[in-house]
Amino acid sequence: MVNLRKLRNGPGIALFAMLAIVAAVATSTAQQHKPKAPKSVRLYVFDCGVIKGLDPALFNFKREEVKTIDFAVPCYLIVDPKGTLIWDVGVIPDGNFKDDGQPVTQGPSTATRTLKSQLAEIGYAPGDITYLAHSHYHGDHIANSNEFAGSTWLVRPIERDAMFADKPPALVDPKTYSELKNSKTVLITKDEYDVFGDGKVIIKSAPGHTPGHQVLILHLKKTGNVMLAGDLYHYPEEKGSGRVPTFEYNKEQSLASRAMIEDYVKKTNTQLWIEHDFTANSKLKKSPKYYD
Ligand SMILES: [Zn+2]
Repeated sequence: MVNLRKLRNGPGIALFAMLAIVAAVATSTAQQHKPKAPKSVRLYVFDCGVIKGLDPALFNFKREEVKTIDFAVPCYLIVDPKGTLIWDVGVIPDGNFKDDGQPVTQGPSTATRTLKSQLAEIGYAPGDITYLAHSHYHGDHIANSNEFAGSTWLVRPIERDAMFADKPPALVDPKTYSELKNSKTVLITKDEYDVFGDGKVIIKSAPGHTPGHQVLILHLKKTGNVMLAGDLYHYPEEKGSGRVPTFEYNKEQSLASRAMIEDYVKKTNTQLWIEHDFTANSKLKKSPKYYD
Protein backbone atom coordinates (compact mmCIF):
# COMPACT_ATOMS: atom_id res chain seq x y z
CA MET A 1 0.00 0.00 0.00
CA VAL A 2 1.16 3.53 -0.74
CA ASN A 3 1.05 5.85 2.24
CA LEU A 4 -0.66 8.94 0.79
CA ARG A 5 0.22 11.06 3.82
CA LYS A 6 3.88 10.62 3.10
CA LEU A 7 3.33 11.62 -0.54
CA ARG A 8 1.41 14.80 0.31
CA ASN A 9 4.44 17.04 0.20
CA GLY A 10 7.75 17.14 -1.60
CA PRO A 11 8.73 15.26 -4.76
CA GLY A 12 6.49 12.35 -3.81
CA ILE A 13 3.32 14.20 -4.81
CA ALA A 14 4.70 14.94 -8.29
CA LEU A 15 5.56 11.29 -8.80
CA PHE A 16 2.13 10.19 -7.62
CA ALA A 17 0.41 12.67 -9.93
CA MET A 18 2.55 11.53 -12.85
CA LEU A 19 1.72 7.86 -12.22
CA ALA A 20 -1.97 8.73 -12.08
CA ILE A 21 -1.73 10.54 -15.44
CA VAL A 22 0.16 7.62 -17.02
CA ALA A 23 -2.51 5.21 -15.75
CA ALA A 24 -5.33 7.42 -17.09
CA VAL A 25 -3.71 7.72 -20.52
CA ALA A 26 -3.12 3.96 -20.69
CA THR A 27 -6.77 3.29 -19.82
CA SER A 28 -8.14 5.72 -22.39
CA THR A 29 -5.82 4.33 -25.10
CA ALA A 30 -7.06 0.81 -24.37
CA GLN A 31 -10.67 2.00 -24.54
CA GLN A 32 -10.10 3.84 -27.81
CA HIS A 33 -8.31 0.93 -29.42
CA LYS A 34 -11.45 -0.75 -30.70
CA PRO A 35 -14.14 1.55 -32.13
CA LYS A 36 -17.56 1.59 -30.50
CA ALA A 37 -20.08 -0.77 -32.09
CA PRO A 38 -22.33 1.09 -34.56
CA LYS A 39 -26.13 1.11 -34.20
CA SER A 40 -26.60 -0.54 -37.60
CA VAL A 41 -24.48 -2.76 -39.85
CA ARG A 42 -21.60 -1.18 -41.78
CA LEU A 43 -19.73 -2.55 -44.79
CA TYR A 44 -16.16 -1.39 -45.42
CA VAL A 45 -14.49 -2.20 -48.76
CA PHE A 46 -10.68 -2.54 -48.68
CA ASP A 47 -8.27 -2.48 -51.61
CA CYS A 48 -6.47 -5.82 -51.47
CA GLY A 49 -4.96 -5.49 -54.95
CA VAL A 50 -5.48 -6.24 -58.62
CA ILE A 51 -4.90 -9.24 -60.90
CA LYS A 52 -3.82 -8.18 -64.37
CA GLY A 53 -3.60 -9.88 -67.71
CA LEU A 54 -5.26 -13.24 -67.01
CA ASP A 55 -6.19 -14.94 -70.28
CA PRO A 56 -9.99 -14.81 -70.73
CA ALA A 57 -9.70 -18.30 -72.23
CA LEU A 58 -9.30 -19.54 -68.64
CA PHE A 59 -12.91 -18.43 -68.20
CA ASN A 60 -14.07 -19.68 -71.61
CA PHE A 61 -14.18 -16.15 -73.03
CA LYS A 62 -12.49 -14.43 -75.96
CA ARG A 63 -10.66 -11.17 -75.36
CA GLU A 64 -13.13 -9.16 -77.44
CA GLU A 65 -16.07 -10.54 -75.44
CA VAL A 66 -15.07 -8.83 -72.17
CA LYS A 67 -14.73 -5.13 -71.47
CA THR A 68 -11.71 -5.52 -69.23
CA ILE A 69 -9.55 -8.49 -68.33
CA ASP A 70 -8.30 -6.96 -65.06
CA PHE A 71 -9.71 -8.17 -61.77
CA ALA A 72 -10.19 -6.17 -58.61
CA VAL A 73 -9.28 -7.96 -55.37
CA PRO A 74 -11.38 -6.47 -52.57
CA CYS A 75 -11.47 -7.51 -48.91
CA TYR A 76 -14.46 -6.56 -46.79
CA LEU A 77 -15.09 -5.79 -43.14
CA ILE A 78 -18.62 -6.06 -41.84
CA VAL A 79 -19.22 -4.28 -38.54
CA ASP A 80 -22.42 -5.41 -36.87
CA PRO A 81 -23.66 -4.03 -33.53
CA LYS A 82 -22.78 -7.49 -32.17
CA GLY A 83 -19.30 -7.97 -33.63
CA THR A 84 -17.16 -7.99 -36.74
CA LEU A 85 -16.66 -10.26 -39.76
CA ILE A 86 -13.81 -10.13 -42.25
CA TRP A 87 -14.88 -11.57 -45.62
CA ASP A 88 -12.14 -12.58 -48.10
CA VAL A 89 -8.60 -11.64 -47.15
CA GLY A 90 -6.67 -10.87 -50.30
CA VAL A 91 -4.16 -12.27 -52.74
CA ILE A 92 -0.83 -11.13 -51.22
CA PRO A 93 0.07 -11.77 -47.56
CA ASP A 94 0.84 -8.60 -45.59
CA GLY A 95 4.07 -10.31 -44.51
CA ASN A 96 5.37 -10.13 -48.09
CA PHE A 97 5.48 -6.31 -47.97
CA LYS A 98 8.87 -4.78 -47.26
CA ASP A 99 9.46 -1.88 -44.88
CA ASP A 100 9.78 0.51 -47.83
CA GLY A 101 6.00 0.36 -48.29
CA GLN A 102 6.34 -0.27 -52.04
CA PRO A 103 3.67 -2.30 -53.89
CA VAL A 104 4.23 -6.05 -53.99
CA THR A 105 3.80 -8.04 -57.19
CA GLN A 106 3.49 -11.82 -57.30
CA GLY A 107 2.77 -13.28 -60.73
CA PRO A 108 -0.19 -11.37 -62.18
CA SER A 109 -1.20 -9.93 -58.78
CA THR A 110 -0.18 -6.63 -57.24
CA ALA A 111 -1.16 -5.15 -53.88
CA THR A 112 -0.32 -1.59 -52.92
CA ARG A 113 -1.53 -1.62 -49.30
CA THR A 114 -1.55 -4.16 -46.50
CA LEU A 115 -4.87 -5.34 -45.14
CA LYS A 116 -3.66 -4.63 -41.60
CA SER A 117 -2.91 -0.96 -42.39
CA GLN A 118 -6.40 -0.54 -43.82
CA LEU A 119 -7.96 -2.12 -40.73
CA ALA A 120 -5.79 0.09 -38.50
CA GLU A 121 -6.97 3.19 -40.34
CA ILE A 122 -10.49 2.56 -39.02
CA GLY A 123 -9.31 1.48 -35.57
CA TYR A 124 -9.13 -2.32 -35.78
CA ALA A 125 -6.38 -4.89 -35.41
CA PRO A 126 -6.75 -8.48 -36.69
CA GLY A 127 -7.07 -9.64 -33.06
CA ASP A 128 -10.26 -7.56 -32.70
CA ILE A 129 -12.12 -9.36 -35.48
CA THR A 130 -14.82 -11.75 -34.26
CA TYR A 131 -15.31 -13.88 -37.36
CA LEU A 132 -13.35 -14.84 -40.48
CA ALA A 133 -15.09 -16.26 -43.56
CA HIS A 134 -14.04 -16.72 -47.18
CA SER A 135 -16.21 -16.99 -50.25
CA HIS A 136 -13.89 -19.92 -51.14
CA TYR A 137 -10.38 -21.24 -50.75
CA HIS A 138 -8.64 -19.95 -53.91
CA GLY A 139 -5.39 -18.09 -53.28
CA ASP A 140 -6.78 -14.69 -54.32
CA HIS A 141 -9.30 -14.73 -51.43
CA ILE A 142 -7.32 -16.22 -48.61
CA ALA A 143 -3.76 -14.82 -48.46
CA ASN A 144 -4.02 -13.18 -45.03
CA SER A 145 -5.94 -15.97 -43.30
CA ASN A 146 -3.23 -16.69 -40.73
CA GLU A 147 -3.55 -13.12 -39.44
CA PHE A 148 -7.09 -14.02 -38.33
CA ALA A 149 -6.34 -17.37 -36.70
CA GLY A 150 -7.61 -15.88 -33.42
CA SER A 151 -11.05 -15.17 -34.94
CA THR A 152 -13.78 -17.78 -35.20
CA TRP A 153 -13.63 -19.33 -38.67
CA LEU A 154 -16.95 -19.85 -40.47
CA VAL A 155 -16.53 -22.53 -43.14
CA ARG A 156 -18.34 -25.43 -44.74
CA PRO A 157 -16.97 -28.88 -43.82
CA ILE A 158 -16.47 -29.91 -47.47
CA GLU A 159 -14.36 -26.77 -48.12
CA ARG A 160 -12.30 -27.19 -44.95
CA ASP A 161 -11.69 -30.87 -45.67
CA ALA A 162 -10.35 -29.99 -49.14
CA MET A 163 -8.08 -27.28 -47.71
CA PHE A 164 -6.48 -29.66 -45.24
CA ALA A 165 -6.43 -32.76 -47.45
CA ASP A 166 -3.07 -34.50 -48.01
CA LYS A 167 -3.22 -33.23 -51.58
CA PRO A 168 -4.58 -29.67 -51.42
CA PRO A 169 -6.71 -28.37 -54.30
CA ALA A 170 -5.32 -26.36 -57.21
CA LEU A 171 -4.88 -22.59 -56.84
CA VAL A 172 -4.22 -22.65 -53.11
CA ASP A 173 -1.14 -22.02 -51.00
CA PRO A 174 -1.70 -23.99 -47.77
CA LYS A 175 1.01 -21.96 -45.99
CA THR A 176 -1.27 -18.89 -46.05
CA TYR A 177 -4.02 -20.58 -44.02
CA SER A 178 -2.15 -23.31 -42.09
CA GLU A 179 -2.87 -21.67 -38.72
CA LEU A 180 -6.63 -21.94 -39.21
CA LYS A 181 -6.31 -25.66 -38.50
CA ASN A 182 -6.41 -24.90 -34.76
CA SER A 183 -8.77 -21.93 -34.90
CA LYS A 184 -12.12 -21.95 -33.18
CA THR A 185 -14.32 -23.07 -36.08
CA VAL A 186 -18.01 -23.14 -36.88
CA LEU A 187 -18.76 -25.80 -39.49
CA ILE A 188 -21.72 -24.52 -41.50
CA THR A 189 -24.02 -27.25 -42.74
CA LYS A 190 -27.19 -25.23 -43.35
CA ASP A 191 -27.92 -23.41 -46.62
CA GLU A 192 -28.05 -20.07 -44.79
CA TYR A 193 -26.09 -19.11 -41.67
CA ASP A 194 -27.00 -16.01 -39.66
CA VAL A 195 -23.58 -14.77 -38.50
CA PHE A 196 -24.62 -12.48 -35.63
CA GLY A 197 -28.07 -13.93 -34.93
CA ASP A 198 -29.79 -10.64 -35.86
CA GLY A 199 -30.81 -11.55 -39.42
CA LYS A 200 -28.60 -8.82 -40.97
CA VAL A 201 -25.52 -10.74 -42.12
CA ILE A 202 -26.17 -14.08 -43.79
CA ILE A 203 -23.75 -16.56 -45.36
CA LYS A 204 -25.47 -18.55 -48.11
CA SER A 205 -24.29 -21.68 -49.88
CA ALA A 206 -23.54 -21.32 -53.63
CA PRO A 207 -21.32 -24.30 -54.48
CA GLY A 208 -19.66 -25.21 -57.76
CA HIS A 209 -16.69 -22.89 -58.17
CA THR A 210 -15.30 -24.81 -55.21
CA PRO A 211 -17.16 -27.48 -53.21
CA GLY A 212 -18.05 -25.12 -50.36
CA HIS A 213 -18.26 -21.80 -52.24
CA GLN A 214 -20.54 -19.31 -50.47
CA VAL A 215 -21.86 -15.77 -50.78
CA LEU A 216 -22.54 -13.10 -48.16
CA ILE A 217 -25.87 -11.29 -47.93
CA LEU A 218 -26.07 -7.98 -46.04
CA HIS A 219 -29.25 -6.20 -45.06
CA LEU A 220 -28.07 -2.60 -44.77
CA LYS A 221 -30.31 0.15 -43.42
CA LYS A 222 -29.66 2.85 -46.04
CA THR A 223 -28.03 0.91 -48.89
CA GLY A 224 -30.52 -1.96 -48.87
CA ASN A 225 -29.70 -5.59 -49.60
CA VAL A 226 -26.22 -6.33 -50.93
CA MET A 227 -24.73 -9.69 -51.91
CA LEU A 228 -20.96 -10.15 -52.00
CA ALA A 229 -21.03 -12.91 -54.58
CA GLY A 230 -17.55 -14.37 -54.25
CA ASP A 231 -16.56 -15.94 -57.57
CA LEU A 232 -20.05 -16.93 -58.67
CA TYR A 233 -18.98 -14.73 -61.61
CA HIS A 234 -15.68 -13.04 -62.45
CA TYR A 235 -16.60 -10.81 -65.41
CA PRO A 236 -20.06 -9.21 -65.58
CA GLU A 237 -20.26 -10.73 -69.09
CA GLU A 238 -20.49 -14.22 -67.54
CA LYS A 239 -24.05 -13.51 -66.41
CA GLY A 240 -26.48 -15.45 -68.55
CA SER A 241 -23.66 -16.81 -70.73
CA GLY A 242 -23.91 -20.39 -69.48
CA ARG A 243 -20.11 -20.42 -69.47
CA VAL A 244 -18.05 -21.14 -66.37
CA PRO A 245 -14.27 -21.10 -65.81
CA THR A 246 -12.20 -23.98 -67.16
CA PHE A 247 -10.98 -24.72 -63.61
CA GLU A 248 -14.46 -24.99 -62.09
CA TYR A 249 -14.84 -27.69 -59.39
CA ASN A 250 -18.30 -28.68 -60.66
CA LYS A 251 -19.78 -26.96 -63.73
CA GLU A 252 -23.34 -28.26 -63.29
CA GLN A 253 -23.36 -27.19 -59.66
CA SER A 254 -22.09 -23.72 -60.60
CA LEU A 255 -24.81 -23.23 -63.18
CA ALA A 256 -27.44 -24.39 -60.67
CA SER A 257 -26.03 -22.00 -58.02
CA ARG A 258 -26.11 -19.10 -60.50
CA ALA A 259 -29.74 -19.83 -61.38
CA MET A 260 -30.68 -20.09 -57.70
CA ILE A 261 -28.86 -16.86 -56.79
CA GLU A 262 -30.32 -14.89 -59.73
CA ASP A 263 -33.77 -15.98 -58.59
CA TYR A 264 -32.93 -15.01 -54.99
CA VAL A 265 -31.65 -11.51 -55.81
CA LYS A 266 -34.66 -10.78 -58.02
CA LYS A 267 -37.16 -11.89 -55.36
CA THR A 268 -35.41 -10.06 -52.53
CA ASN A 269 -34.37 -6.89 -54.39
CA THR A 270 -30.68 -7.51 -53.65
CA GLN A 271 -27.73 -5.86 -55.43
CA LEU A 272 -25.31 -8.56 -56.59
CA TRP A 273 -21.70 -7.40 -56.33
CA ILE A 274 -19.23 -9.43 -58.41
CA GLU A 275 -16.13 -9.17 -56.26
CA HIS A 276 -13.60 -9.20 -59.13
CA ASP A 277 -15.61 -6.84 -61.39
CA PHE A 278 -12.96 -4.18 -62.02
CA THR A 279 -15.28 -1.49 -63.37
CA ALA A 280 -17.93 -1.94 -60.68
CA ASN A 281 -15.28 -2.06 -57.94
CA SER A 282 -13.67 1.16 -59.17
CA LYS A 283 -16.95 2.97 -58.46
CA LEU A 284 -17.35 1.64 -54.90
CA LYS A 285 -16.70 3.74 -51.80
CA LYS A 286 -13.50 2.51 -50.20
CA SER A 287 -12.62 2.41 -46.52
CA PRO A 288 -12.54 4.58 -44.40
CA LYS A 289 -15.84 5.42 -46.08
CA TYR A 290 -18.48 2.73 -45.64
CA TYR A 291 -21.91 1.52 -46.68
CA ASP A 292 -24.58 1.35 -44.02
ZN1 LIG B 1 -11.14 -15.09 -57.21
